[in-house]
Amino acid sequence: MTFDAIIVGARVAGAATALLLARQGLRVLLLERSAIGSDTLSSHQLQPAGAAVLERWGLLGELVAAGTPATTHLRLHHGRHVVDAELPRAMFSPRRTLLDAMLVRAAAEAGAEVREHVTVEELVWSEGRVRGVAGRARRGGGFSADAPLVVGADGKHSIVARAVRAGVYRERPSRAFAAYTYVGGLPVGAGEMYQRDGAAAAVFPTNDGLTMVYVSAPLDGFVAYRADPDGTFLGLLDGFGELGERVRSARRAERLRATPDQPNRFRVPYGPGWALVGDAGVVMDSITAQGMTNALRNAELLSLAVASGDFAAHHRERDRGLSRMYDLTLHLARHRPGVAERLFFPLLARRFWRSDRRVGGRRRHRGALAA
Ligand SMILES: Cc1cc2nc3c(=O)[nH]c(=O)nc-3n(C[C@H](O)[C@H](O)[C@H](O)COP(=O)(O)OP(=O)(O)OC[C@H]3O[C@@H](n4cnc5c(N)ncnc54)[C@H](O)[C@@H]3O)c2cc1C
Repeated sequence: MTFDAIIVGARVAGAATALLLARQGLRVLLLERSAIGSDTLSSHQLQPAGAAVLERWGLLGELVAAGTPATTHLRLHHGRHVVDAELPRAMFSPRRTLLDAMLVRAAAEAGAEVREHVTVEELVWSEGRVRGVAGRARRGGGFSADAPLVVGADGKHSIVARAVRAGVYRERPSRAFAAYTYVGGLPVGAGEMYQRDGAAAAVFPTNDGLTMVYVSAPLDGFVAYRADPDGTFLGLLDGFGELGERVRSARRAERLRATPDQPNRFRVPYGPGWALVGDAGVVMDSITAQGMTNALRNAELLSLAVASGDFAAHHRERDRGLSRMYDLTLHLARHRPGVAERLFFPLLARRFWRSDRRVGGRRRHRGALAA
């Protein structure tokens, strides 16, 4: 089988890249080792910039029609301070089963050939260039395909990145673990975000009338979490006013999921016959909820590079777009808000100030976040 591009991994990064390359008229093969649209270990806030990308591609309407609630307000809690912020455009929290499946369907409609249950085990090389992939299909045994471009969209432990020995830079070890679950009967009018010494939390509405509750805490607390997942999760939420109590009195709709596997690194994203996109290229702690938005934007940059042949521009623009958020993410994942933050938050509160009233003994600020 010969294609113009083979993409390994069919979630946000891979399916989006397949969609855009197929829309350019390329013959694209999209390979995924698991079932298309299966769930994955990830909460799923899509930032306004990510929603804007989906809208440009004509896909946001489908997410909304599938019952994904729009979040247009954020309530940020930091110590005594609460900021109510209006977002310039909505963010969404679509379940990955919905978002990933929708992107794969769009890629197939654009002409990409999609194969699930195919595990890529190695790259095929010729004269110093990657020329294709080889692996196993769940049905049919051995599998191979050729293309002048193989894209690794295979996540943070990318086999493509390892096989091409992609250079790694700005790497930092995991700093925090994350845990999340879904509850019913906890309606929220705004996305809620909480930060204090030693933990952060987020509460966002998602599909099927459920609310996603996420917590992040320093990595050394993962031992305690393993010994008592529920107790540790709720205990961390108890550190945020009434949040623990609200979650306790809601209906637990799904099991608790957690991971300490949150590396932080950049990889060189291209070389002869290969490219990397999404987490395979840049991965960072989930505390700032950027990965899906990054993956979508990165897919756009890569598809432009494929059209123009200027992969260096893709590399440059990707890093320029992510650099500051990467630094902020590393800082927040330490869970030690410093003096700067203690000063910054009240400033933020004041900057977006519209009304200023005490609610439950707390100073509450209201305003609109700049675009
Ligand atoms: C706890 C947690 C919470 C998160 N919360 C958020 C959030 O709220 N918002 C946000 O934007 N991001 C969040 N993220 C980050 C987000 O999950 C990732 O950034 C995003 O999934 C990256 O997408 P991707 O397509 O690059 O890779 P992945 O989603 O990892 O997909 C890679 C795919 O490649 C497939 N694959 C791997 N190897 C092979 C192979 N050899 N052959 C064939 N297929 C293969 C895998 O099966 C997988 O389906 C979170 C992450 C974690 C861990």
